[in-house]
Amino acid sequence: MKRIHIILFAALCVVSTSCKHEKKNNMTYRPLGNTGLMVSEISIGCGGFEKIDSATSLELMTMALDSGMNYIDIYDANPKTRSNIGYALQGRRNEMIIQGHIGTIFKDGQHCRTRNVEEAKQGFEDLLARLHTDHIEVGMIHITDSHEEWDELEGSPFLDYVFQLKKEGKIKHIGVSSHNAEVALRAAKCGWIEVIMFSLNPAFDRLRGGAIPWEEGAMDNLQAGIDPVRVEFYDYCATHHIGVTVMKTFGGGGRLLDEKSSPLGVAYTPEQCIAYCLAKPCISTCILGIDNIEELKADLHWLQASDAEKDYTNFEKRETTKACETCTYCNHCSPCSTGIPIAKVNELLDKAEKDGLTPELQAKYDSLPHHAGECTHCGACLSRCPFDVDIPTQMNRAKEIFGK
Ligand code: SF4
Ligand code: SF4
Repeated sequence: MKRIHIILFAALCVVSTSCKHEKKNNMTYRPLGNTGLMVSEISIGCGGFEKIDSATSLELMTMALDSGMNYIDIYDANPKTRSNIGYALQGRRNEMIIQGHIGTIFKDGQHCRTRNVEEAKQGFEDLLARLHTDHIEVGMIHITDSHEEWDELEGSPFLDYVFQLKKEGKIKHIGVSSHNAEVALRAAKCGWIEVIMFSLNPAFDRLRGGAIPWEEGAMDNLQAGIDPVRVEFYDYCATHHIGVTVMKTFGGGGRLLDEKSSPLGVAYTPEQCIAYCLAKPCISTCILGIDNIEELKADLHWLQASDAEKDYTNFEKRETTKACETCTYCNHCSPCSTGIPIAKVNELLDKAEKDGLTPELQAKYDSLPHHAGECTHCGACLSRCPFDVDIPTQMNRAKEIFGK
């Protein structure tokens, strides 16, 4: 009897692999490119773990794992984020596939991107130690957004270090994260990248400013109106089995979920955003920024959502009504030369401008270690922002509203 079960299970696995997706309970698992890993189609981002305590981290992680989520992205070098995740994963490490970033470090109280080998080493060893593990599944080269950055990466000592990590088994697969479709396409074609973390949602798929008008009948073509380089990137990854994990599924900071902030002028639901991304065959998982238990519960509604709830096509004729050059609170512009936590300032500024300045917002702003008024307009942060946000102008506006 036991043997029959084993044969049936093996047959099921073969069938599942051949039809690509597997389903357990309500969660669907997709292949992560050619890595041999099957990943839950919705997964966890690390950002929220900085904002909660270890007990809540454990509660959040337990709910995520029990719901079938098996993938997490950890880009943040903040020790609190990493320690909270490490604490929450103890005893269940083997149930989670970890995509951890190489080239991030926490320096002078700020998260920093680095290509210095010694710093990268320190940052990566810290990640392993805080996660209580001796390896991670995907070693993600943190943010390569320009052709110059890609050129610098190839043949660099930093890349040698990444290959060394793979040889030592400290990372099982090499990935790279990028917001730039041209660079992501180069990465996909390089021959040694297995996973790409890419920013994707209905707004980012439009050319900036909605330059390509929608045509009648375009509804039948999911790729109509999308930047052709992005289309090429998606097609290449699908046909060459490069795993693509999605960042900024909800537009970055949840912008698409609110009509007032949505670049498409209409509020999407989490289910519509997720369905939009997963409609592309190359996508392995949508990484969701989750700040608290309530948000996780809301995102997990995906598992029960009806087809009608997932249907986003009514909105698909929309052109961008606002420029996409808005802050997504991603922190990639850090470090600021005077220590301003730019992403946090922008987040509080947006809230104050949208709903009005409240004593609570002011108190949160006051508690920041440095304030917008300290901006010297040095411009050091500008080239690091993938979304071309005019950061010094944002700092001016924040100073005006918050008074310092
Ligand atoms: S321009 Fe302002 S916010 Fe940007 S790095 Fe310089 S001081 Fe910091
Ligand atoms: S200013 Fe740009 S890089 Fe900085 S947090 Fe906002 S979107 Fe990210």
